[in-house]
Amino acid sequence: PFVYLNGEFLPPGRASVSVFDRGFVFGDGVYEVIPVFGGRLFRLAHHLARLERSLAAIRLENPLTAGEWETVFSRLVRENGDGDQSVYLQVTRGVAPRDHAFPAGVKPTVFAYAQPLKYPPAAAVAEGVAAVTAADIRWLRCDIKAIALLANALLRQQAIDRGAAEAILIRDGLVTEGAASNIFVVNRGTLVTPPNGPFILPGVTRDLVLELAHANGVPAREEPLPESALYTAEEIWMTSSTREILSITRLNDRPVGTGRPGPLHAKLFALYKAYKQAFCEG
Ligand code: PLP
Repeated sequence: PFVYLNGEFLPPGRASVSVFDRGFVFGDGVYEVIPVFGGRLFRLAHHLARLERSLAAIRLENPLTAGEWETVFSRLVRENGDGDQSVYLQVTRGVAPRDHAFPAGVKPTVFAYAQPLKYPPAAAVAEGVAAVTAADIRWLRCDIKAIALLANALLRQQAIDRGAAEAILIRDGLVTEGAASNIFVVNRGTLVTPPNGPFILPGVTRDLVLELAHANGVPAREEPLPESALYTAEEIWMTSSTREILSITRLNDRPVGTGRPGPLHAKLFALYKAYKQAFCEG
């Protein structure tokens, strides 16, 4: 397998970055993860649009055009034998003597690779997974897909240490999102997810779920979600590019609803899989 680094395709062992890269020293960069189904980049335009937003938010110019990104990803995917994969890309501000101020005239470091997609285990899909609630200790620009993920890593580990798959984050009494996912609840048959804003990442999977709900007459709302709504929810789901739509059937060691994945999850997951199938065949 090859990785892409600054214009070259290299074996991973030969790809290296300076210890003075601002990504390494400051976490000064942004990233994307793009799922690949049947060798094709799923919702590529959405991921590139979000990348553009993230880059603009940290005042970096996009180093590649959309066409150039696609060429890089396609080659990585092909070299990896197509099938279902995930493409990771990151852009950092580049290499410069350590100083908080932006360096002048420095080229960004551009890195990308593809790996086989690790789907959640079949039992997790069929039975749902456990989650715990945790205080959202992150910064105030969670809408930027920043590589600095220390808080997210601490929160995810906190969940793992309690035997759960995800932490559902609470800020000022409201649900924001998961450590690496967006959150939906079903409340009296209606799908509810927090609105986009500075405290959540605008998830590509989240948007697709909303799109599919609207197109198929499933009532869905984007509105602030109090923590208390988690404890009365009929269903809770997490969404992400690599975990797709996963039921959360236990929260803080108590069952959610019936304790089994619910009927609305079955419906939206079927719609999602049909959409994905059509994409693969299209
Ligand atoms: N929120 C956070 C903090 C994430 O890291 C992710 C992705 O891993 C998501 C939400 C889901 O976004 P997407 O559906 O675009 O993968």
